[in-house]
Amino acid sequence: MKKHNFSAGPCILPPQVMQLAAEAVLDYNGLGLSIIEISHRSKDFVEVMEKARTLALELLGLENKGYTALFLQGGASTQFLMTAYNLLEKKAGYINTGTWSSKAIKEAKLFGEVIDVASSQDQNFNYIPKGFSVPKGLDYLHFTSNNTIFGTQFNEFPNTDCPLVCDMSSDIFSRQMDFSKFDLIYAGAQKNMGPAGTTLVVVKDDILGKVSRRIPSMLDYQVHIDKDSMYNTPSVFPVYVSMLTLEWLKKLGGIETIEEINEKKARLIYSEIDLNPLFTGFAEKEDRSNMNATFNLTDEKLKTTFDTMCKEAGIIGINGHRSVGGYRASMYNALPLESVGVLVDIMDELERKG
Ligand SMILES: *Cc1c(COP(=O)(O)O)cnc(C)c1O
Repeated sequence: MKKHNFSAGPCILPPQVMQLAAEAVLDYNGLGLSIIEISHRSKDFVEVMEKARTLALELLGLENKGYTALFLQGGASTQFLMTAYNLLEKKAGYINTGTWSSKAIKEAKLFGEVIDVASSQDQNFNYIPKGFSVPKGLDYLHFTSNNTIFGTQFNEFPNTDCPLVCDMSSDIFSRQMDFSKFDLIYAGAQKNMGPAGTTLVVVKDDILGKVSRRIPSMLDYQVHIDKDSMYNTPSVFPVYVSMLTLEWLKKLGGIETIEEINEKKARLIYSEIDLNPLFTGFAEKEDRSNMNATFNLTDEKLKTTFDTMCKEAGIIGINGHRSVGGYRASMYNALPLESVGVLVDIMDELERKG
């Protein structure tokens, strides 16, 4: 039986995508070859790469607006340093909302001055800072739109006069927003788009070329742009599966449609957390993430019972991150509403059992 996969990443992907991906591994396009053994320079793969890049921009509403989509390697973690390498000349601002932003800050400090514009560290990152002001004259402002580990999500974005850089690893393509407000967006594929092994970078071309340092080719966005995201051998299979997921999303109706579904899933789990006295939410209500719901049992003694019930129902991946404890239900695009229903039923049942 297929599990109800609430894992925070690598994530659940649509069954249709899995089916097509499996077929392509055996024989791609009737070529008598697997997708993972054809040349990345072949017409067949170049088409995949181009389609993936086009679909990414199309779904984000960024076509013909001066942006380029790249599928790079090294995970979102490499983007922590690559953004700074390419954009940080003197001073950059960072909003620190958790583990991933902290890691981005650590890397950026290797390249220049970093200002903590706002932070929610004082309360173990259970909220999104608000009402802060962004100093003038920054090279860019960086923030993490969804905090995968703590289960908080930005609803409103900082207004800036400098380029806006965002780590959208765990909520890209999950909700509508004006993506043209951003100058650089990056996202590791494995949270909401595909298998681990590729990272989507969407960059506004005119922010590049402004730092004086020399940049190694593999870390230079401009090099990858000039080579159509094929400067070196791309991660062929992750790019292919990401393309399939983006196609699936487009057919479904795009971000507008998936956002409605994601909101339904989030409402279902959070209303259970709020109504069931055996559970408490971790994140401040107004900052709750629609992707990762973090919660705890009010009585730790019920843990074994609850865990067993979840396991028997085929639920996996709901253990909280070690820095938060408790539980985390990740509800990425491909997780069906039905899976959330199964989890909520178990939470109900636990309450009835007392
Ligand atoms: C998982 C995650 C990362 C790290 O991604 P890698 O691809 O493993 O480097 C960075 N940022 C956010 C928001 C994440 O959820």
